[in-house]
Amino acid sequence: MSLLAVERLNKAFGGVVAAHDVSFAVERGEMLALIGPNGAGKSTVFNMIGGQLPPDRGAVLLEDKAITLASPQERFRQGIGRTFQIAQAFHSMTVCENVQMALISHHRESRAIWTEARQHHRRDALDLLSQVGMAEAADRSCSVLAYGDVKRVELAIALAGEPKLLLMDEPTAGMAFRERAALMDLTHSIARTRRIGILFTEHDMDVVFGHASRILVLLRGEIIAAGSPAEIRENAQVRQAYLGN
Ligand code: ADP
Ligand code: MG
Repeated sequence: MSLLAVERLNKAFGGVVAAHDVSFAVERGEMLALIGPNGAGKSTVFNMIGGQLPPDRGAVLLEDKAITLASPQERFRQGIGRTFQIAQAFHSMTVCENVQMALISHHRESRAIWTEARQHHRRDALDLLSQVGMAEAADRSCSVLAYGDVKRVELAIALAGEPKLLLMDEPTAGMAFRERAALMDLTHSIARTRRIGILFTEHDMDVVFGHASRILVLLRGEIIAAGSPAEIRENAQVRQAYLGN
């Protein structure tokens, strides 16, 4: 049983076919990259998996259970996480408080017991922060962090929801090369140790070929190739259609 299976997903916007019979699976512990030129349909596929967009046809299954029409909140509860964008880390709170807040929300505790919960979750929050290499910044305000460090905190926040599958839309956008490689290495080791499946999109082919365990190539709403980085690099159709050589 795959962690996630999408079966013949279709979506059109007016006359534009954004997804045509898109089928693939994400396995536990793998880093699966979805690549393709602008307008290929990557975000459309992400949004049909995250629940932001209903497909015209097709199915989304999490551990064999159909979630095709479930709300984003319901999918989140079932184990589909998304990395938060920078604006969603609360800049007025400390790093640790941001993660504690995510733990509180995951455990569905009310804000009324915030003071108590805060004590209760501090140890777990620190544990998550040490997994992303940010324990030493726990009591600093998020507003003073470097961009790459905010990304690490965002990853800890996403992990607080105990996701089975993590959707990452261009996780390294805006980061310097060394930071990008470090964040992807970290993400990969977390995926492996926690057996989380990661589906990510990324423009930077060095990041994709360096870190994906498997790659799907989307072109005009259709998957034209799927395979290991080595297989994709050798694929004549992909080189011609997309990689430009
Ligand atoms: P990508 O993320 O690969 O750049 P998208 O999934 O955003 O591609 O878009 C795929 C196609 O669908 C594009 O032609 C885009 O213009 C179109 N599209 C996406 N979302 C909408 C929408 N909400 N309304 C109309 N057209 C859309
Ligand atoms: Mg997009």
